[in-house]
Amino acid sequence: MKVVLQNLTKIFPNRKKGGDDVVAVNDFSFEIPDGKLVGLLGPSGCGKSTSLYMICGLQKPTSGKIFFGDIDVTALEPESRGVGLVFQNYALYPHMTVKQNILYPLQNLKGSDKMTKEQMLERAVEVAKIVQIDELLERKPHELSGGQQQRVAIARALAKMPRVLLLDEPLSNLDARLRLQTREEIRRIQRKTGITTVFVTHDQEEAMSISDMIVVMKKGVVQQIGAPQAVYDSPANLFVAKFLGTPPINVFEGEVKGGKVWIGEDAVADAEGIADRKVFVGIRPEGFILDPNGPLHCDLRAVEVMGRDVSVVSTNANCTAEQVRSIIDADQRKNMNGDVVRFAVKPNKIFIFDKENEERIVLPGQDKIAEAIEG
Ligand code: ATP
Repeated sequence: MKVVLQNLTKIFPNRKKGGDDVVAVNDFSFEIPDGKLVGLLGPSGCGKSTSLYMICGLQKPTSGKIFFGDIDVTALEPESRGVGLVFQNYALYPHMTVKQNILYPLQNLKGSDKMTKEQMLERAVEVAKIVQIDELLERKPHELSGGQQQRVAIARALAKMPRVLLLDEPLSNLDARLRLQTREEIRRIQRKTGITTVFVTHDQEEAMSISDMIVVMKKGVVQQIGAPQAVYDSPANLFVAKFLGTPPINVFEGEVKGGKVWIGEDAVADAEGIADRKVFVGIRPEGFILDPNGPLHCDLRAVEVMGRDVSVVSTNANCTAEQVRSIIDADQRKNMNGDVVRFAVKPNKIFIFDKENEERIVLPGQDKIAEAIEG
Protein backbone atom coordinates (compact mmCIF):
# COMPACT_ATOMS: atom_id res chain seq x y z
CA MET A 1 0.00 0.00 0.00
CA LYS A 2 1.55 3.29 -1.02
CA VAL A 3 1.15 6.17 1.41
CA VAL A 4 0.94 9.70 0.06
CA LEU A 5 1.56 12.71 2.26
CA GLN A 6 0.37 15.90 0.63
CA ASN A 7 1.51 19.23 2.07
CA LEU A 8 1.12 17.96 5.62
CA THR A 9 1.38 20.68 8.24
CA LYS A 10 0.82 20.50 11.98
CA ILE A 11 0.75 23.61 14.11
CA PHE A 12 0.35 23.39 17.88
CA PRO A 13 -1.09 26.68 19.13
CA ASN A 14 0.78 28.26 21.99
CA ARG A 15 -1.26 28.31 25.16
CA LYS A 16 0.58 31.31 26.64
CA LYS A 17 -0.52 34.75 25.58
CA GLY A 18 1.88 36.35 23.11
CA GLY A 19 3.90 33.14 22.64
CA ASP A 20 4.64 31.65 19.24
CA ASP A 21 2.77 28.67 17.85
CA VAL A 22 4.86 25.55 17.28
CA VAL A 23 5.06 24.47 13.65
CA ALA A 24 5.88 20.83 14.36
CA VAL A 25 5.64 19.74 10.71
CA ASN A 26 5.80 22.18 7.84
CA ASP A 27 4.48 21.32 4.38
CA PHE A 28 5.65 17.70 4.25
CA SER A 29 4.98 16.03 0.88
CA PHE A 30 6.18 12.53 0.05
CA GLU A 31 4.94 9.42 -1.70
CA ILE A 32 6.04 6.35 0.26
CA PRO A 33 6.25 3.53 -2.28
CA ASP A 34 4.32 0.33 -1.66
CA GLY A 35 6.21 -2.24 0.43
CA LYS A 36 9.14 -0.02 1.34
CA LEU A 37 10.68 0.73 4.70
CA VAL A 38 11.13 4.45 5.22
CA GLY A 39 13.19 5.91 8.08
CA LEU A 40 12.12 9.31 9.44
CA LEU A 41 15.28 10.78 10.85
CA GLY A 42 16.30 13.95 12.66
CA PRO A 43 17.25 15.46 16.02
CA SER A 44 14.87 15.62 18.96
CA GLY A 45 11.88 17.88 18.34
CA CYS A 46 12.20 17.95 14.53
CA GLY A 47 8.67 16.59 13.98
CA LYS A 48 9.26 12.88 13.38
CA SER A 49 6.70 11.57 15.88
CA THR A 50 4.13 14.18 14.91
CA SER A 51 4.46 13.07 11.25
CA LEU A 52 3.98 9.45 12.30
CA TYR A 53 0.97 10.28 14.49
CA MET A 54 -0.65 12.11 11.58
CA ILE A 55 -0.16 9.04 9.37
CA CYS A 56 -1.81 6.81 11.98
CA GLY A 57 -4.56 9.29 12.84
CA LEU A 58 -3.66 10.06 16.46
CA GLN A 59 -3.00 13.68 15.40
CA LYS A 60 -5.09 15.57 12.88
CA PRO A 61 -3.09 17.71 10.44
CA THR A 62 -3.69 21.46 10.55
CA SER A 63 -3.63 21.31 6.76
CA GLY A 64 -2.69 18.83 4.07
CA LYS A 65 -3.91 15.36 3.19
CA ILE A 66 -2.95 11.72 3.67
CA PHE A 67 -3.81 8.96 1.20
CA PHE A 68 -3.48 5.20 1.65
CA GLY A 69 -3.39 4.03 -1.95
CA ASP A 70 -5.94 6.28 -3.65
CA ILE A 71 -8.14 6.65 -0.59
CA ASP A 72 -8.11 9.88 1.38
CA VAL A 73 -7.77 8.81 5.04
CA THR A 74 -7.19 12.29 6.47
CA ALA A 75 -10.51 12.35 8.33
CA LEU A 76 -10.52 8.67 9.35
CA GLU A 77 -10.06 7.61 12.97
CA PRO A 78 -6.93 5.52 13.74
CA GLU A 79 -8.89 2.27 14.13
CA SER A 80 -10.40 2.67 10.66
CA ARG A 81 -7.05 3.18 8.92
CA GLY A 82 -5.68 -0.34 9.23
CA VAL A 83 -2.36 0.69 10.74
CA GLY A 84 -0.17 -1.24 13.16
CA LEU A 85 1.65 0.91 15.66
CA VAL A 86 4.62 0.09 17.87
CA PHE A 87 5.75 2.73 20.34
CA GLN A 88 8.99 3.22 22.21
CA ASN A 89 7.20 2.08 25.39
CA TYR A 90 5.59 -0.92 23.89
CA ALA A 91 3.59 -1.72 27.05
CA LEU A 92 2.46 -5.32 26.86
CA TYR A 93 -0.34 -6.35 29.20
CA PRO A 94 1.69 -7.82 32.09
CA HIS A 95 -1.02 -10.16 33.40
CA MET A 96 -1.61 -11.74 29.97
CA THR A 97 0.47 -14.39 28.27
CA VAL A 98 2.24 -13.64 24.99
CA LYS A 99 -0.58 -15.42 23.15
CA GLN A 100 -3.27 -13.39 24.92
CA ASN A 101 -1.37 -10.18 24.19
CA ILE A 102 -1.32 -10.99 20.48
CA LEU A 103 -4.96 -12.12 20.47
CA TYR A 104 -6.19 -9.00 22.23
CA PRO A 105 -6.51 -6.67 19.21
CA LEU A 106 -8.14 -9.46 17.20
CA GLN A 107 -10.86 -9.94 19.83
CA ASN A 108 -11.90 -6.33 19.37
CA LEU A 109 -12.40 -6.50 15.62
CA LYS A 110 -15.87 -5.53 14.49
CA GLY A 111 -18.21 -6.05 11.54
CA SER A 112 -16.84 -7.90 8.55
CA ASP A 113 -13.37 -8.04 10.15
CA LYS A 114 -14.65 -10.17 13.06
CA MET A 115 -12.82 -13.52 13.34
CA THR A 116 -13.72 -16.90 14.82
CA LYS A 117 -11.71 -18.24 17.76
CA GLU A 118 -9.92 -20.70 15.48
CA GLN A 119 -9.04 -18.01 12.95
CA MET A 120 -7.67 -15.79 15.71
CA LEU A 121 -5.51 -18.56 17.11
CA GLU A 122 -4.24 -19.44 13.68
CA ARG A 123 -3.34 -15.79 13.04
CA ALA A 124 -1.62 -15.41 16.43
CA VAL A 125 0.56 -18.45 15.76
CA GLU A 126 1.29 -17.25 12.23
CA VAL A 127 2.59 -13.82 13.33
CA ALA A 128 4.40 -15.34 16.31
CA LYS A 129 6.26 -17.52 13.81
CA ILE A 130 7.17 -14.52 11.65
CA VAL A 131 8.80 -12.76 14.61
CA GLN A 132 10.15 -16.07 15.95
CA ILE A 133 8.47 -16.14 19.35
CA ASP A 134 6.18 -19.12 18.69
CA GLU A 135 8.02 -21.06 21.42
CA LEU A 136 7.14 -18.40 23.97
CA LEU A 137 3.37 -18.11 23.55
CA GLU A 138 2.49 -19.30 27.06
CA ARG A 139 4.95 -17.02 28.86
CA LYS A 140 4.13 -13.76 30.61
CA PRO A 141 5.99 -10.58 29.52
CA HIS A 142 8.20 -10.49 32.63
CA GLU A 143 9.55 -13.91 31.64
CA LEU A 144 10.93 -12.50 28.36
CA SER A 145 14.06 -10.54 27.44
CA GLY A 146 13.72 -6.95 26.21
CA GLY A 147 14.21 -8.03 22.61
CA GLN A 148 11.61 -10.79 22.91
CA GLN A 149 9.12 -8.33 24.43
CA GLN A 150 9.77 -6.00 21.53
CA ARG A 151 9.04 -8.80 19.09
CA VAL A 152 5.77 -9.56 20.88
CA ALA A 153 4.82 -5.89 20.47
CA ILE A 154 5.55 -6.16 16.75
CA ALA A 155 3.57 -9.41 16.51
CA ARG A 156 0.63 -7.69 18.21
CA ALA A 157 0.83 -4.87 15.68
CA LEU A 158 1.09 -7.35 12.79
CA ALA A 159 -1.80 -9.54 13.96
CA LYS A 160 -4.46 -7.29 12.43
CA MET A 161 -2.60 -7.52 9.11
CA PRO A 162 -2.09 -3.76 8.96
CA ARG A 163 -1.84 -2.02 5.62
CA VAL A 164 0.85 0.20 7.07
CA LEU A 165 3.22 -0.48 9.98
CA LEU A 166 4.39 2.49 12.03
CA LEU A 167 7.30 2.19 14.45
CA ASP A 168 8.20 5.04 16.81
CA GLU A 169 11.73 4.62 18.21
CA PRO A 170 10.99 0.94 18.79
CA LEU A 171 14.55 0.07 19.78
CA SER A 172 15.41 2.77 22.26
CA ASN A 173 14.77 0.63 25.34
CA LEU A 174 17.19 -2.07 24.23
CA ASP A 175 20.91 -2.41 24.94
CA ALA A 176 23.42 -1.95 22.11
CA ARG A 177 23.66 -5.61 21.10
CA LEU A 178 19.92 -6.19 21.17
CA ARG A 179 19.33 -3.00 19.23
CA LEU A 180 21.52 -4.28 16.45
CA GLN A 181 19.88 -7.70 16.48
CA THR A 182 16.35 -6.33 16.68
CA ARG A 183 16.83 -3.82 13.90
CA GLU A 184 17.91 -6.65 11.62
CA GLU A 185 14.82 -8.55 12.80
CA ILE A 186 12.59 -5.62 11.89
CA ARG A 187 14.15 -5.52 8.46
CA ARG A 188 13.63 -9.25 8.00
CA ILE A 189 10.01 -9.10 9.19
CA GLN A 190 9.29 -6.11 6.96
CA ARG A 191 10.76 -7.87 3.92
CA LYS A 192 8.83 -11.05 4.69
CA THR A 193 5.48 -9.32 5.13
CA GLY A 194 6.02 -6.62 2.48
CA ILE A 195 4.07 -4.15 4.63
CA THR A 196 4.81 -0.50 3.91
CA THR A 197 6.62 0.63 7.05
CA VAL A 198 7.59 3.98 8.53
CA PHE A 199 10.24 3.90 11.20
CA VAL A 200 11.06 6.89 13.39
CA THR A 201 14.51 7.24 14.94
CA HIS A 202 17.03 9.91 15.87
CA ASP A 203 19.84 7.41 15.30
CA GLN A 204 21.25 7.98 11.84
CA GLU A 205 23.14 4.70 11.77
CA GLU A 206 19.99 2.78 12.60
CA ALA A 207 17.98 4.54 9.91
CA MET A 208 20.72 4.17 7.30
CA SER A 209 21.19 0.48 7.96
CA ILE A 210 17.63 -0.75 7.54
CA SER A 211 15.74 1.82 5.45
CA ASP A 212 15.02 1.70 1.73
CA MET A 213 14.64 5.45 1.92
CA ILE A 214 15.35 8.04 4.57
CA VAL A 215 13.68 11.37 5.22
CA VAL A 216 15.92 13.82 7.07
CA MET A 217 14.00 16.48 9.01
CA LYS A 218 15.00 19.63 10.85
CA LYS A 219 12.63 21.87 12.80
CA GLY A 220 9.56 20.47 11.06
CA VAL A 221 11.00 20.90 7.57
CA VAL A 222 12.09 18.02 5.34
CA GLN A 223 15.69 18.56 4.32
CA GLN A 224 16.23 15.63 1.97
CA ILE A 225 14.62 12.36 0.91
CA GLY A 226 16.43 9.51 -0.80
CA ALA A 227 18.12 6.14 -0.56
CA PRO A 228 20.46 6.17 2.46
CA GLN A 229 23.66 5.81 0.42
CA ALA A 230 22.57 8.45 -2.09
CA VAL A 231 21.84 10.98 0.66
CA TYR A 232 25.16 10.21 2.37
CA ASP A 233 27.05 10.53 -0.91
CA SER A 234 25.24 13.64 -2.04
CA PRO A 235 23.88 15.71 0.84
CA ALA A 236 21.64 18.65 -0.01
CA ASN A 237 22.96 20.95 2.68
CA LEU A 238 25.37 21.25 5.58
CA PHE A 239 22.80 20.02 8.12
CA VAL A 240 22.27 16.73 6.26
CA ALA A 241 26.03 16.30 5.68
CA LYS A 242 26.67 16.75 9.41
CA PHE A 243 23.77 14.59 10.53
CA LEU A 244 24.83 11.48 8.59
CA GLY A 245 28.06 9.60 9.22
CA THR A 246 30.20 8.43 12.13
CA PRO A 247 32.71 9.83 12.78
CA PRO A 248 31.00 12.97 11.49
CA ILE A 249 32.10 14.97 8.48
CA ASN A 250 34.93 17.48 9.10
CA VAL A 251 33.84 21.05 8.40
CA PHE A 252 36.28 23.84 7.54
CA GLU A 253 35.89 27.55 6.88
CA GLY A 254 36.99 28.05 3.30
CA GLU A 255 36.46 29.90 0.07
CA VAL A 256 36.15 29.44 -3.65
CA LYS A 257 38.67 31.63 -5.43
CA GLY A 258 39.95 31.50 -8.99
CA GLY A 259 38.33 28.13 -9.72
CA LYS A 260 39.72 26.34 -6.66
CA VAL A 261 38.41 25.43 -3.23
CA TRP A 262 40.72 26.84 -0.56
CA ILE A 263 41.13 25.94 3.08
CA GLY A 264 43.46 28.67 4.30
CA GLU A 265 46.46 28.59 1.95
CA ASP A 266 45.70 25.11 0.70
CA ALA A 267 43.88 24.51 -2.60
CA VAL A 268 42.06 21.24 -1.91
CA ALA A 269 39.74 20.79 -4.93
CA ASP A 270 38.80 22.14 -8.34
CA ALA A 271 35.85 24.49 -8.49
CA GLU A 272 35.97 25.62 -12.08
CA GLY A 273 32.93 27.61 -13.13
CA ILE A 274 31.92 28.44 -9.55
CA ALA A 275 31.96 32.12 -8.63
CA ASP A 276 34.30 33.29 -5.87
CA ARG A 277 32.61 33.18 -2.46
CA LYS A 278 33.00 32.14 1.17
CA VAL A 279 32.00 28.53 1.79
CA PHE A 280 32.00 25.77 4.33
CA VAL A 281 34.09 22.84 3.14
CA GLY A 282 33.04 19.39 4.37
CA ILE A 283 35.37 16.40 4.07
CA ARG A 284 34.20 12.93 5.11
CA PRO A 285 36.68 11.13 7.42
CA GLU A 286 37.22 8.46 4.74
CA GLY A 287 37.95 11.17 2.15
CA PHE A 288 41.54 11.85 3.22
CA ILE A 289 44.57 10.24 1.57
CA LEU A 290 47.92 10.51 3.32
CA ASP A 291 50.21 12.04 0.73
CA PRO A 292 53.59 13.73 1.40
CA ASN A 293 52.78 16.13 -1.46
CA GLY A 294 49.06 16.50 -0.66
CA PRO A 295 47.63 20.03 -0.57
CA LEU A 296 45.97 20.02 2.88
CA HIS A 297 48.33 20.64 5.80
CA CYS A 298 47.29 19.60 9.32
CA ASP A 299 49.14 19.27 12.63
CA LEU A 300 49.33 15.69 13.81
CA ARG A 301 47.97 15.03 17.28
CA ALA A 302 47.45 11.27 17.55
CA VAL A 303 47.07 8.05 15.61
CA GLU A 304 44.44 5.65 16.95
CA VAL A 305 44.70 2.06 15.81
CA MET A 306 41.37 0.56 14.75
CA GLY A 307 42.64 -2.64 13.11
CA ARG A 308 42.24 -2.52 9.37
CA ASP A 309 42.17 1.30 9.49
CA VAL A 310 43.79 3.93 11.63
CA SER A 311 42.14 7.09 12.82
CA VAL A 312 44.47 10.05 12.36
CA VAL A 313 43.63 12.91 14.69
CA SER A 314 45.03 16.28 13.65
CA THR A 315 44.23 19.98 13.91
CA ASN A 316 43.77 22.74 11.37
CA ALA A 317 43.14 26.39 12.21
CA ASN A 318 40.26 26.54 9.75
CA CYS A 319 38.43 23.49 11.03
CA THR A 320 35.19 24.39 12.82
CA ALA A 321 35.79 21.57 15.31
CA GLU A 322 38.75 21.13 17.63
CA GLN A 323 40.04 18.12 15.73
CA VAL A 324 40.15 16.81 12.20
CA ARG A 325 39.24 13.11 12.15
CA SER A 326 40.41 11.05 9.21
CA ILE A 327 40.14 7.31 8.66
CA ILE A 328 43.14 5.99 6.80
CA ASP A 329 44.05 2.54 5.54
CA ALA A 330 46.60 1.19 8.08
CA ASP A 331 49.05 0.43 5.22
CA GLN A 332 49.29 4.14 4.44
CA ARG A 333 50.83 4.96 7.81
CA LYS A 334 54.27 4.86 6.26
CA ASN A 335 53.39 8.12 4.47
CA MET A 336 53.31 9.94 7.76
CA ASN A 337 56.33 11.40 9.48
CA GLY A 338 56.95 14.55 11.45
CA ASP A 339 54.45 16.87 13.12
CA VAL A 340 52.70 17.98 9.96
CA VAL A 341 50.48 15.58 8.05
CA ARG A 342 49.62 16.30 4.45
CA PHE A 343 46.47 15.01 2.84
CA ALA A 344 45.10 14.73 -0.66
CA VAL A 345 41.30 14.70 -0.75
CA LYS A 346 39.08 12.24 -2.64
CA PRO A 347 36.95 14.31 -5.05
CA ASN A 348 33.70 12.49 -4.20
CA LYS A 349 34.19 12.96 -0.47
CA ILE A 350 34.52 16.73 -0.36
CA PHE A 351 31.48 19.00 -0.40
CA ILE A 352 31.15 22.75 -0.36
CA PHE A 353 28.24 24.70 1.12
CA ASP A 354 27.23 28.32 0.70
CA LYS A 355 28.31 30.23 3.82
CA GLU A 356 25.01 32.11 4.02
CA ASN A 357 22.28 29.55 3.43
CA GLU A 358 24.40 26.39 3.94
CA GLU A 359 23.02 24.82 0.75
CA ARG A 360 25.36 22.53 -1.15
CA ILE A 361 27.14 23.84 -4.24
CA VAL A 362 27.86 20.92 -6.55
CA LEU A 363 31.51 20.80 -7.60
CA PRO A 364 32.50 19.97 -11.19
CA GLY A 365 32.44 16.22 -11.78
CA GLN A 366 30.12 15.57 -8.83
CA ASP A 367 26.66 14.12 -9.33
CA LYS A 368 23.57 16.17 -8.85
CA ILE A 369 22.18 16.25 -5.31
CA ALA A 370 20.47 12.95 -4.53
CA GLU A 371 16.81 12.34 -5.30
CA ALA A 372 13.95 14.57 -4.29
CA ILE A 373 14.98 17.55 -2.21
CA GLU A 374 12.60 19.70 -0.35
CA GLY A 375 12.77 22.62 2.05
P1 ATP B 1 11.80 13.27 19.69
O1 ATP B 1 12.89 12.57 18.92
O2 ATP B 1 12.33 14.04 20.86
O3 ATP B 1 10.62 12.39 20.03
P2 ATP B 1 10.37 14.37 17.40
O4 ATP B 1 11.21 14.67 16.23
O5 ATP B 1 9.56 13.13 17.39
O6 ATP B 1 11.24 14.44 18.72
P3 ATP B 1 7.87 15.74 17.82
O7 ATP B 1 7.48 14.95 19.02
O8 ATP B 1 7.17 15.45 16.55
O9 ATP B 1 9.43 15.65 17.59
O10 ATP B 1 7.68 17.29 18.17
C1 ATP B 1 7.88 18.32 17.22
C2 ATP B 1 7.66 19.67 17.89
O11 ATP B 1 6.29 19.79 18.24
C3 ATP B 1 8.45 19.87 19.17
O12 ATP B 1 8.87 21.21 19.22
C4 ATP B 1 7.43 19.57 20.26
O13 ATP B 1 7.74 20.30 21.44
C5 ATP B 1 6.15 20.05 19.63
N1 ATP B 1 4.98 19.29 20.11
C6 ATP B 1 4.76 17.97 19.97
N2 ATP B 1 3.56 17.61 20.49
C7 ATP B 1 3.01 18.76 20.97
C8 ATP B 1 1.78 19.07 21.63
N3 ATP B 1 0.86 18.13 21.87
N4 ATP B 1 1.56 20.37 21.97
C9 ATP B 1 2.46 21.33 21.71
N5 ATP B 1 3.64 21.10 21.08
C10 ATP B 1 3.92 19.84 20.72
